[in-house]
Amino acid sequence: MLRVTEIFRSIQGESTHAGRPCTFVRLTGCPMRCVWCDSEYTFTGGDHYSLEDIVARVHGFECRLVEITGGEPLAQRKAFDLIRQLCDEGFEVLVETGGYVSTADVDERAKVILDVKCPASGEEPRNHWPNLEHLRADKDEVKFVIADRGDWDYAQTVIQKYDLQTKAKAILISPAWEQIDLTTLADWVSASGLNVRLQLQLHKYIWGPDVRGV
Ligand code: SF4
Repeated sequence: MLRVTEIFRSIQGESTHAGRPCTFVRLTGCPMRCVWCDSEYTFTGGDHYSLEDIVARVHGFECRLVEITGGEPLAQRKAFDLIRQLCDEGFEVLVETGGYVSTADVDERAKVILDVKCPASGEEPRNHWPNLEHLRADKDEVKFVIADRGDWDYAQTVIQKYDLQTKAKAILISPAWEQIDLTTLADWVSASGLNVRLQLQLHKYIWGPDVRGV
């Protein structure tokens, strides 16, 4: 069984897949507590579903792209089985993870969107650095959520230190919601000359920051 907060179809809002129709399976629970977290409602509650129930519901949305998210989806061991089963059934599977749990056992057909937590999140010490060794350059993406200049400097250091420009399909630079001026961050990104991608959380601009299930 897996504990699930919600299953719904919407528009993928972040990553290079932004704008695509996507079914989301949002699993309950997260061992981290990022100060700017926008998914606190996933920390508790949820309903228990069997793997078969989840897969049946995903089929019901008739959408080839599926994202497993949370919370921290990989904190539940059964999530690895769910990812494998969805891949077996021909879905294109995205896994959005906060970077605390090892991604080593994620099915190789899935596409990982891996957070590297920056200092202002309060969770930087919990980054599981070996995850950066598991990146597949043709499909996996790394995301830095930036709240201030210290985060941006940190992100640049990590990008260079781990050679992420060659190890990841994309490096996503995402502003922490209402924490940082967008033009300032855009100026930093453009001045860096790095092969990174500034991204906004599309779904929040469409439906607002607090709407669930979209
Ligand atoms: S890892 Fe994600 S869900 Fe967990 S506290 Fe951080 S932002 Fe929230």
